[in-house]
Amino acid sequence: MLIFRQLFDPQSSTYTYLLGDNRSREAVLIDTVFEQARRDAALVSELELRLLFTLETHVHADHVTGAWILKRRFGSRIALAQNSGAEGADRYLAHGDKIEFGARHLEVRATPGHTNGCLTYVLDDESMAFTGDCLLIRGSGRTDFQQGDPHALYRSVHTQILTLPQNCLLFPGHDYRGLTVTSVAEERRFNPRLGGEIGEADFAGYMQNLGLPHPKQIDVAVPANLKCGRREDGIVSLTAPNWAALTYTFAGIWEIQPQSLEEAADKVQIVDVREPSEYHGPLGHIRGALLIPLGELAKRTGELDRERPVVAVCRSGARSAQATVILQQAGLKDTANLAGGMLRWRADGHVVEEGSK
Ligand code: FE
Repeated sequence: MLIFRQLFDPQSSTYTYLLGDNRSREAVLIDTVFEQARRDAALVSELELRLLFTLETHVHADHVTGAWILKRRFGSRIALAQNSGAEGADRYLAHGDKIEFGARHLEVRATPGHTNGCLTYVLDDESMAFTGDCLLIRGSGRTDFQQGDPHALYRSVHTQILTLPQNCLLFPGHDYRGLTVTSVAEERRFNPRLGGEIGEADFAGYMQNLGLPHPKQIDVAVPANLKCGRREDGIVSLTAPNWAALTYTFAGIWEIQPQSLEEAADKVQIVDVREPSEYHGPLGHIRGALLIPLGELAKRTGELDRERPVVAVCRSGARSAQATVILQQAGLKDTANLAGGMLRWRADGHVVEEGSK
């Protein structure tokens, strides 16, 4: 079975795709975004996948890839088009290459036009294709910068994408209206730039007169992406805060395990966000934990020392996850949620005050 996730970066409206093979747990990511690399890494870890490759559909002008930072984290290999002009990749791809993950593979198709090095990745059974910025939903990528060429883009779409099976699902590199997926049949009929009877010259005329503004990120993104996202600013890994052993979850929360909290107990403030009856109830509470029920937390953050990390605790870890969000909104930077709450704290054999045995 195929594992498939579509992820979104709201800043650049970029889609990142995770594809994995259920049995072998081998996986690839298509078009990662640097600022979302921590999120993507958490998902890969939570799904217990082995990331083999980060693939680029092209050298992006609107965001920096997460390929290099994810390679630092997982040892994944960076792959993009041979003629992308990028340095530092582990594999350079050409038309017809296959990228295998477990029993599945993606076929590489050269679809130049938005840039010279644009690739479309087609799933082995032709049920899905990842078109990057070549074909967008009811649109197409721009052809007015990098090595853009509307004639080449038209031919790529018509020979490599719209010739796939009618029901093949097409997943674009971006969408600015929140649309997520389309199909070959739909784009053949309804794409206002490339569908129906629209010819190459019609398309080229249309594209040459779009008059779009210069992409905001291009001067930063293209040079960085030509190095596969390798950082020059000293950021070399997805660093975690160093006040305790924390993990970042796909839900976007820093978590601390009971054992790590025990070890860091003298450095942190523990805030118990349950109700007073629970704090004094049978589960007990952690020694020294300050009781501030979740409903009062936003008003009472002034009672906390801003210089010391805060760990939020509740019964099961759900309310306290929300508490870390409230604490961060109040400007407390170093916060974490006790994973599993008092239930796990007790199950792991840690000491409580007041609780029943
Ligand atoms: Fe692009």
